[in-house]
Amino acid sequence: MSAEAKTAVAGSGEGGCWCCGRITAEEALVRLENHPEVGLCASCVRFLGRRARDYQASVMRSRLRSAAEWVRGEVMSRGWHERPVIGPVLLWINRHVPW
Ligand SMILES: [Zn+2]
Repeated sequence: MSAEAKTAVAGSGEGGCWCCGRITAEEALVRLENHPEVGLCASCVRFLGRRARDYQASVMRSRLRSAAEWVRGEVMSRGWHERPVIGPVLLWINRHVPW
């Protein structure tokens, strides 16, 4: 489908989604702010939202993993894991932390 065809189906009040190509009502298309010629249908907007959330979650997991590694290193370097009361608690936490 050409760019002109995706922008609007000639005089029908419909447009094509630039992601999946589905022809839908013009009002149902979400237009990009800096590229208003690009319209996406609701399904593709939801799909892209899920992709963005997955990416953000992986970035957050990576940061949490790094923070946990730093804390683990600090605990080990200070020998807190060998102390009588706090040591077993820290070891238990280390075994059950998901990252
Ligand atoms: Zn679509």
